[in-house]
Amino acid sequence: MIEIKGQGTFTDAAEFFSDIFSTQYWPARWNCGKWTDFHGWLYIISDLMIWAAYFAIPFLLFRLITKRTDFPFPKIFWLFIAFILLCGATHLMDAVIFWWPAYRLSALLRFVTGTVSLFTVYALYKILPMVLNLRTAAQVEEEAEHRRRAEKQFSNVFAFSAVGMALVSPEGKFISVNPALSNFLGYSEQEMQNLTFQDITYIDDLDVDLQYVREMLDGKIVSYQLEKRYIKKDGSLWWGLLACSLMKDHEGKPDFFIAQIADLNNSKKLKDALEVMKRKDEFLSIAAHELKTPITSVKGALQILDVQLSKSDQEKGTKPLISIANKQVKKLTWLVNDLLDVARIQSGRLALSISTFKIEELVNEAMEQVFHERKDKNIVYQGEQSIEVEGDKLRLEQVLVNLLSNAIKYSPAKTDIIIKAERMEGQIRVSVIDFGIGIASEKIPHLFERYFRVESTSQNFSGLGIGLYISAEIVRMHKGSIGAESRLGEGSTFYFSIPTRSQDERT
Ligand code: ADP
Repeated sequence: MIEIKGQGTFTDAAEFFSDIFSTQYWPARWNCGKWTDFHGWLYIISDLMIWAAYFAIPFLLFRLITKRTDFPFPKIFWLFIAFILLCGATHLMDAVIFWWPAYRLSALLRFVTGTVSLFTVYALYKILPMVLNLRTAAQVEEEAEHRRRAEKQFSNVFAFSAVGMALVSPEGKFISVNPALSNFLGYSEQEMQNLTFQDITYIDDLDVDLQYVREMLDGKIVSYQLEKRYIKKDGSLWWGLLACSLMKDHEGKPDFFIAQIADLNNSKKLKDALEVMKRKDEFLSIAAHELKTPITSVKGALQILDVQLSKSDQEKGTKPLISIANKQVKKLTWLVNDLLDVARIQSGRLALSISTFKIEELVNEAMEQVFHERKDKNIVYQGEQSIEVEGDKLRLEQVLVNLLSNAIKYSPAKTDIIIKAERMEGQIRVSVIDFGIGIASEKIPHLFERYFRVESTSQNFSGLGIGLYISAEIVRMHKGSIGAESRLGEGSTFYFSIPTRSQDERT
């Protein structure tokens, strides 16, 4: 038995390290105890197998972490490599000791292995909560599926949206545009990608747009909306409502703008048309007021002239001229009154004066009024007798006169005009039927609009396009309805219905 005398820890340790490879005091393991060949080699081969495996695993791990640099927690892998290598080395040492009893080296190796093992355990313990929070492969796949679906939905929205959409670089270059936008502006999607938003923004709108973009890049605002004009490929202007927001990358730097652009052109056109209509109304109202006084004095002068001429002998030659002048003044008066009525309707000042009367009276008076206009046409009345109605007789007469004048005006050939009056479930319906030029079906819904005239015929017939508008308003105030049926080239029927009994409220 070999005896090693202890000489104090420090001296022991110094001696241990100075002679770390010493085998002096220990026999080879073959010589220690009673080994049979089978037992010894079983021990040695098993140790070598463990060592071989423990040596190979770190290589595989090394390959793994050098190839997949995206792996989380790479440092723990290095610890695993060291720990497994060292464990392997202790098994190799155990096998070698059968011939080379370097027990000091073996002890040191075990100590280093133990230390690295404990350190690995500690490191593993530290990162365990984070590892547990890592997404599983199923979760990652699910997320990827979600993302794929969201991307597909986005690309569908992008492709099929009726709203123009674009992704724009922070410098203003179009990264991608959807078909709607390229359609609106007349550029192909490819052509748009060679443009910046500055290139196609109308100069008057560019400053305000750039100001918003600067504020967004500076982080002062997160999005903005702007009604602006774009320059189309053909050079014309296109109104769009732009809603723009900025996307940032993972470092918080501006990545790209998302622009959504709605087509404002129809509403802009509508606004412009309403504005033009308003100005037209104002102008015509002023003109009508201005014309009233001169017409009244011309009328008065003609009356005086008529009386004076009756007393002189020049009466014969000039009387017809005065009659023509009077007729024209009457027409002018109608015109001015119609224009004043439009102004009254616009300002809600058109009032009714209600009375009860028979419909024949209304028809007779209207026929009388158009007597001179009708020329060689027959106006035939096919009405029920003694139908009483309540309403504003003069205003309803105005409606009927307008329908009759139109029937005469728009029937150039010698054809009859029929007036029908019939009772219908508490209503009286008056129709004026002509066999004139007729109206195309697509125009019929517009007939009662202010200033509407059928373009194809408007050059051949004088008129302002306000008679039917006023008529419709008067009928509406009687709580009635007005309408037209017509066939191009065959004639038209215009009708209005009003309640025969008094209504509580009239607007
Ligand atoms: P206008 O002074 O132009 O006749 P109206 O408001 O009375 O104005 O009529 C509007 C338009 O409707 C006319 O310009 C004409 O084109 C069409 N219209 C009205 N009545 C008839 C009709 N009996 N036959 C054919 N077209 C008609």
